[in-house]
Amino acid sequence: MSSSVIDYLATEARLGAQNYAPIGVVLSRGEGVWVWDTDGNRYLDCLSAYSALNQGHCHPKILAAMVEQASRLTLTSRAFHNDQLALFYEEIAALTGSHKVLPMNSGAEAVESAIKSVRKWGYEVKGVPDGQAEIIVCADNFHGRTLGIVGFSTDPETRTHFGPFAPGFRIIPFGDVKALERAITQNTVAFLVEPIQGEAGVIIPPVGYFTEVRQLCTAHNVMLVLDEIQTGLGRTGKLLAEQHEGIEADVTLLGKALSGGFYPVSAVLSNNDVLGTLRPGQHGSTFGGNPLACAVARAAMRVLVEEGMIENAATQGARFLQGLKDIRANTIRDVRGRGLMLAVELHPEAGRARRYCEALQAKGILAKDTHEHTIRIAPPLVITSDQVDWALEQFATTLTLDFS
Ligand SMILES: *Cc1c(COP(=O)(O)O)cnc(C)c1O
Repeated sequence: MSSSVIDYLATEARLGAQNYAPIGVVLSRGEGVWVWDTDGNRYLDCLSAYSALNQGHCHPKILAAMVEQASRLTLTSRAFHNDQLALFYEEIAALTGSHKVLPMNSGAEAVESAIKSVRKWGYEVKGVPDGQAEIIVCADNFHGRTLGIVGFSTDPETRTHFGPFAPGFRIIPFGDVKALERAITQNTVAFLVEPIQGEAGVIIPPVGYFTEVRQLCTAHNVMLVLDEIQTGLGRTGKLLAEQHEGIEADVTLLGKALSGGFYPVSAVLSNNDVLGTLRPGQHGSTFGGNPLACAVARAAMRVLVEEGMIENAATQGARFLQGLKDIRANTIRDVRGRGLMLAVELHPEAGRARRYCEALQAKGILAKDTHEHTIRIAPPLVITSDQVDWALEQFATTLTLDFS
């Protein structure tokens, strides 16, 4: 480790809130699937900032759109119109087939906005008595870090000593249709769920789950809210993960890759009913829908489609998954994934996944552990076959190591 690295780490440790435990690498440059550290070492990014970098680092077309817009107009607030918002609406609605759009910044804000909107819909359209709205969520969910959201997390680390929390949420197991059916009451306004649970370790529900979920929600007039902040925008090999199930959510949440990693941009997408209940003054955000965000998001969506990244995620994801499955190592308990949202779960006896991520770093791969025993793998969607094959060689030699 060079002295400059020690300085970065020591200064962060001294002055920063210690709410992260990053791997000991200090990055200073990125391009496509690659990042470089301050010593000039190159790594394949297999995290993509938790899927915010689907388009790869510093995509030149998104960069150009950002620089151009930043030199013209960055922020108006929603007190005035700007000449990017309508275009953003048009393009995201056309891409996703949505009727209404609410622009926000972070993913958590999109989730909070959806919760507010479906509650309001529940009272004003469905006729739920005021203050009685219930939202059903899943165990092991991850929807963000605000108070409203961590209040319905089931992860003790996420919740402990942050209460008291808001009521109105019911927690059921993920992938269990019967549990959903039992949990629905006449006051249920929404079922909020991830198509694939990302932070929980890339948990893919049983085949047919979402078809039945869709039917149940329709039958009981419950809004199906899909949090596609991580699964959306090509990550799973389709534009939206819901397309694997052939269903349509009532409310879809996007974030992360909506800006290709340049800027926090998120959106709530819905049918007319849900977002239609919001009137002037009832919800807002100073930065939400700003012209810089809109210009960046427009470019980020355009390159995703024009450069075939979604199809590439399907092709390279299948190659990566098969390659991981072919690795013969006693450390591996399970390999799973859809598109380029992949995970290797290690046997608990193999030692912590963190150790394997550190070993991968030494081989030029940056990946992130989740929940002690799982290595999550999510490279940018611009990865090539050669790069996948190279990564697989590194995984093969690392996963045969013994850190128990
Ligand atoms: C990352 C993520 C969020 C939160 O997004 P932030 O931008 O970090 O607030 C919400 N839901 C899912 C599924 C996510 O992966």
